[in-house]
Amino acid sequence: MAVMKTKPGPGAELRHVEIPKPGPDEVLVKVLATSICGTDLHIYEWNEWAQKRIKNLPQIMGHELCGEVVELGRNVKNIKKGDIISAETHIACGHCYLCRTGLAHICMNGSIFGVDIHGVFAEYAIVPATNAWVLDKKIPRDYASVMEPLGNAVHTVLAGEIVGTTVLITGCGPIGLMSIAIARLSGATKIIATEINEYRIQLAKKIGADLVLNPGKKNVVQRVLEETDGLGVDVVIEMSGNPQAIREAFDALRPGGRFSILGIPDKPMEIDLGKSIIFKYITVQGINGRLMFSTWYKTTQFLSSGRLDIEPIVTHRLRLAEFEKGMELMRSGNCGKVLLYPEDETSKT
Ligand code: NAD
Ligand code: ZN
Repeated sequence: MAVMKTKPGPGAELRHVEIPKPGPDEVLVKVLATSICGTDLHIYEWNEWAQKRIKNLPQIMGHELCGEVVELGRNVKNIKKGDIISAETHIACGHCYLCRTGLAHICMNGSIFGVDIHGVFAEYAIVPATNAWVLDKKIPRDYASVMEPLGNAVHTVLAGEIVGTTVLITGCGPIGLMSIAIARLSGATKIIATEINEYRIQLAKKIGADLVLNPGKKNVVQRVLEETDGLGVDVVIEMSGNPQAIREAFDALRPGGRFSILGIPDKPMEIDLGKSIIFKYITVQGINGRLMFSTWYKTTQFLSSGRLDIEPIVTHRLRLAEFEKGMELMRSGNCGKVLLYPEDETSKT
């Protein structure tokens, strides 16, 4: 069984599919858990982005994976049958300028699971061996599925100075929530978060944000300035993709600060370059994916050391067949990370 996008338009179907054969450099995995990302919801709902981006229907959805390796391609040496793996979802060519200069995560010829090729909302999936990340045995195995978005948070928070800083995290979806946890562990000394959804506001508090502001109710810039002796925060971690949140974050950042953006606005937006960036002498940093693979090593350390507890962020565990319920939860925002299990694995983590 697999969750397939069969035709253009909203929705997806549960379809019977054959077990695929791995190529020489690939592995076949039995999917133990997978999780829903905002991108999957966009594809499910068939928004404007999905209409332009998704070319190869019918296609299995999903990209976040915890799988057990059950078959190896003939060239595969670095992985064994029985290994539990997570997967880096950006498949790089390994040959282009970017791949050869340490920037494989933005490979010029890259493809992405569940976007360009078949994904992992299925009982079995194919993963290129170079993209498989063998899970440290100390980490609960279904967290393998969450390591990919967690890596986005790790990459963004650690993309500049963080120890002893004041931080504003805009948007407390799963990755914003993970960023709060990572910023705390990494030595940020004051963490202010913003979010509009009440369920996620409560989660952000639980995870350890010092202050959570609802921009619908509070003047974010004014409150941030009050909290930082009129200076503004040292670091902005943008995790909402919301233009209003982004504009306010520029005003809440101190001169000379760091503005790291993972959130993706769904259309082009205007920014006053002079006021917001140039005269403020700030550094604006686009963040895409995870560094391959230094982010994965760090993410592993956070989890295997036991210092990072992501359990409060994993709010729902459902059967894969209940994907529609999962999508509905994601649409409502009344959830953190939603995990889907092809088998009834929910109690076996
Ligand atoms: P998400 O959509 O679940 O979370 C965004 C959150 O922002 C939501 O909880 C929403 O309620 C909140 N929000 C909306 N308007 C707001 C406002 N004005 N102020 C404060 N909060 C507001 O997304 P996610 O999965 O947590 O991912 C975070 C962002 O990162 C998304 O924009 C996603 O598209 C993007 N993303 C980028 C990459 C990349 O490689 N650059 C990878 C994964 C995700
Ligand atoms: Zn490349």
